[in-house]
Amino acid sequence: MEERKILLVEDENKIALTLKKGLSENGYYVELAYDGLIGKKLFLSHHFDLIILDVNLPGMNGYELCKIVRSYNQQVPIVMLTAMSTTDDKIEGFDAGADDYIIKPFEFKELLVRIRALLKRTTNQLVPSGNILRVADLEMNLDSKEVKRSDKKIPLTAKEFQLLEYFLRNKNRVLSRADIASSVWDIDFDTQTNVIDVYVNYLRNKIDKSFGSKLIHTQVGMGYVLKEENER
Ligand code: CA
Repeated sequence: MEERKILLVEDENKIALTLKKGLSENGYYVELAYDGLIGKKLFLSHHFDLIILDVNLPGMNGYELCKIVRSYNQQVPIVMLTAMSTTDDKIEGFDAGADDYIIKPFEFKELLVRIRALLKRTTNQLVPSGNILRVADLEMNLDSKEVKRSDKKIPLTAKEFQLLEYFLRNKNRVLSRADIASSVWDIDFDTQTNVIDVYVNYLRNKIDKSFGSKLIHTQVGMGYVLKEENER
C-alpha cells in the first residue's frame, strides 16, 4: 500500500518531533506545522490521509482549523490533541468536525491505534476513486499524479499540478492572486510579479486550450475561478 500522509499541527516542539519520529517509524509520511495558519496552508496545497491537530496553537487554534478543513473535505479523518479534558472541550472538538480526541499526556501507542482505526475506516469507505478530484470531464488522481481530460492524459509540471489541485479543491470559489500565492507558492503576493498569471496561462494551455469548454475563468479585478461553464 502506498505510504499514508499525515498532517501534524502541534506547536510544542518536543511532542511534535516525538510524534513525527514515531509515525515515520511506523511507515507514515508526516508533514509538520508548528502554527495553525501554516497547517492551513499545507492542508490546502497537499493531499493528506489524516490530520492531527493540537487545540492550543499560535496563528489559529485547532478548532478553527478543524472547521476550515471540514469546509473543504468531509472525509479526511481528524484527531484532536489537547491538554484539557473537560467534556465541553470534547464537544467543541466534535462540533468542529473532529473524529477522535486524545488527551495529553498520552501514550504514543494509543495514538497509533486510533490512527490505524481511522485510516482503516476511510479505506473501507472509499471506492477506489477516493483519491480523485474531478470537475466536468477533467480528473486528477492524487495517488498516481495523473491528470486527464476527456480520458486524454495531460502531463503537468509539479507546480502546475499543485496549482490545478488547489483550483480543484476550491471548485466554484473565486481565488485571488494572493490566495493562490500563499497557498501554492507559500509566498506573500507581490503585485510586481506576474508569476501567478503566467502559471495560470500555462495551465490553461494544457487543460483548456484544445477542449470545447473552458474550466479556468478570469474574474476581472478578483482573480480566477475553476468551474464548469454551465454552472454560471
Ligand atoms: Ca499547543
